[in-house]
This record gives sequence, structure tokens and C-alpha cells, in this order.
Amino acid sequence: MTAPLLLRRGTVVDTRDGSLRPGTDVLADGGVITAVGEDLEAPRGATVVDVSGRYVVPGYNDMHAHPLGHGDPAPTLELMLAHGITGFRQMHGDLGLLRARAAGELRLPAAAPALLAMPGPLLTMLNTGTAEQAAATVREQVAAGADFVKSAAMSKERFFDAQAEALRLGVPIVGHLPAGIDVLRASSIGMKSVEHFGSGLGVLACCSTDEPALREASGARSRLRLPPARLPFMDRVVAAVMRRVVLNPVLLNKAEDVEILDRAVRTFDEHHAHDLAARFAADGTWHVPTLIRQKTSKLCDDPSFAADEDLRYMAAATRRTWDRVAARFGRFTLAQRTTLAASHRYEYRMARIFEEADVRMLVGTDSSGAVWVVPGAALHDEIDLLGEAGIAPLRLLRMLTLDAASFLGATATMGTVEPGRNADLVLLDANPVTDAAHLHRVTGVVRAGTHLSAAHLAATKDRLAGTVVT
Ligand SMILES: [Zn+2]
Repeated sequence: MTAPLLLRRGTVVDTRDGSLRPGTDVLADGGVITAVGEDLEAPRGATVVDVSGRYVVPGYNDMHAHPLGHGDPAPTLELMLAHGITGFRQMHGDLGLLRARAAGELRLPAAAPALLAMPGPLLTMLNTGTAEQAAATVREQVAAGADFVKSAAMSKERFFDAQAEALRLGVPIVGHLPAGIDVLRASSIGMKSVEHFGSGLGVLACCSTDEPALREASGARSRLRLPPARLPFMDRVVAAVMRRVVLNPVLLNKAEDVEILDRAVRTFDEHHAHDLAARFAADGTWHVPTLIRQKTSKLCDDPSFAADEDLRYMAAATRRTWDRVAARFGRFTLAQRTTLAASHRYEYRMARIFEEADVRMLVGTDSSGAVWVVPGAALHDEIDLLGEAGIAPLRLLRMLTLDAASFLGATATMGTVEPGRNADLVLLDANPVTDAAHLHRVTGVVRAGTHLSAAHLAATKDRLAGTVVT
């Protein structure tokens, strides 16, 4: 049992409107905030930490990450926590993980963010070959306790079959948009969140003056071929194929795919983008842009990635894999790279347009699996890129905290620094509302009521150097 924790005289930041409450004490007991106010009395045996001069905000949430499901997740989870991440949405799963969790046997290390939500296996052509199979796969996952189902590599027809079954069972469907799909139809029927702007051509095609033709052209091309039948050993084979693909899915693009992308870029239209954003906002469809994932995929051999200091956390084997993936990116011609880079620039435009239209968005990284994406550190890269897109510091703070709580329907326990909320906090030494760069200045983390000092966080990071495998 952890001792009660009293944070003395901090400045509590209201994530709703950015207002500040200086000189405020925060008391936590049993992992929950029990009081917020001035000059609170310290309970017997409490740990008291002077946080004067510091800003108290809710812990950050990485709403698109993959730390579980391959090897020992402990170093990855601890690195995420050391960067201020106190919660994550796991974006792929398997029936074993789901059943272990349901049985109370999925135990994460104490030094780890909270597992906020987890799906079953990704929906692919393999487990959604027919309408019946798509529905049966969704049913099986929901029965095993999946919080949502995630579309990855499936046909547009089977997407709608899976979506119908998920909605019937009251479980959200999220993920990638299959090639050639009617995006607005998927959104209006109910798609809880679109990841990576749909992945592939995705949402960009909807911003084009040439949308119907682009949709048809991309729908006619299937970039990833998986065997259509479910064979006993195939799950493992497919998992291995997916792991390789996930490193950088852009490498699947053939010349024809890049040509279609080029047409989308050339016919991008601001009005179409605004109309689309208004529809997403009206439908309540969330977006998780994962700009860092898009950037590392589409500019994969940019020398800045190999020079990133955060690579020090990664195991040598992972570093070698990433170097190989970057080298494979070298097969794209100069013209193709120009198209890929241009399509990435439009993703910043879309993020800005979505923000202006009040489309709800979350901060996610796609860490653990994606090339050059370092768990924990990548959340801070994502903050910077969303800031570059033009999203204001307060909105970023909200996306990291309160919006994540809203998405999960968990505002009673997350997202603000108030009694009743989980004692998962970040301490900053500068005001995050005046400058998004201040969101990086993590000088303390509280996880389930336990305070981790700046010195502890620094020592943790040093200790984890060279250990993280993704
Ligand atoms: Zn992902």
C-alpha cells in the first residue's frame, strides 16, 4: 500500500480553459486524488513533496501505441512513464492477451502507464474473408473482452460488415480506412476514430477535386496480399508479415500507388478539406493523426532520424532493423520521394483544418513497431509536429489529457486535477499554456499516487539506454 502523497503549493492547470490555480495543494491516497485546495493537512505517514514553482497537469496519454504483445514490455513501458505518459491505448491485441486480462492475469509492471483500452487481433483479409467471417471475428473478439475492434488491412466491403456487427454489439470500430472506401459513409454510420488520417491514401483522397476517380483507382489496387483462408499456422505467419509491414507500410507502395498519391496531392482542395472536416465534426468521428509516424514513414531515410539522440534507448538489434528499413526506402525515385514528402505536408494542413473545424483529435505515436518511433520520446515529437501544424498549446494539453478521457468516456476518473480522478500527474517547470515546448519540461511524474522525482526519471532513462526492443 502506497503512503498518501501531498504535493505542496503547486500551480494546478485547468485543462478545460487553461486557467491557473497557484499555491494549491494536491492530496492523493490509494492512487486517487482526494483533495485539491490551499494548506491541506498532511495525513499521518504522508509523503510531502514541495512543488512550488511547478505546474501540475494530468498525466499524458499516448492514444496510439503498441507496447504489448511482443516480448517483455517492461523497458518500453517504463520509458513511456519516464516521459510523462501515464496511460496508453494499446492498438493491437490477441485473444490470449484479452483472455489473460479478463481473468485478472495480465499484470503490467508497477513502473508502467495504465492500459486504457485494448482490441483483439487486427482485422485483415485473413480473418474477414467473407461477410460471415468478418462478423464472426468481431463476435469472437468482443466475447474475449475487446474494448474495440481495429481495422487494418481489409476490403471496403468487409469493413462495413465488421462495422455493422461491432455497432450491433455496442463496441467501437476504429483504425485504418480500406482502399477505395466511401469515407463519409463509414464516418456517418459510426467509426469512433480514424488513425493516421486513414493510412494509405485515406482521408487525403477526400480532399481532392478528383475524389471519385481517385477512390476507384485506389480501390482497384490492393497493396497487401494475404492468404484468404484461415489455416492453423497462418496466424503466426501473418503476425510475422504484419510486423515487417508495420515497420514502414509506405514501402508497400508500387509506382502506380505513388502516381495515385501524386494525383491526390495535385488536386487537393481547401474547400473539400473544410467540408470533410465539418462532416467529421458533426459525426463525432475522432482523428489520431500520428504525424510522427507519418513523417518517419514518408521521409524514412532523412538523416535527422538516424541522428536522433533518443535512439540511445533502443536495443542494437532494433537500430539495425531500422537502418535496413531506411535503406530499403532508397528504392523510391526522386520524383516519388517528392510526392511522398508533399503528401506528408498536406497532413499538417489537414490537422490544422480539422482543428479549426473542431474535429476531435488525440495524440498518438504508433510506437513499438514503427520505424524510428522511440516509445515515450515520440509523444514529445508528436506534440512538436502538431504544434508545427498550428495547434495551440492549450488544445495540445487538452488532447493529451481531457480529450483522451472524453474519448474513453472516463472524465470521472481522468483528464483533470480534481478529487476523484486517478492520481496520475505530470509536473512541469514552466507554464504549458503559454508555450507547447513547456509540455516537454517534465520534472516529475505521479503514477497511481507514487511520486517519481526528476532525478529518478533521469536515472531511469539512463538505465534504460540500449534496452528497448520494438
Ligand atoms: Zn498502430
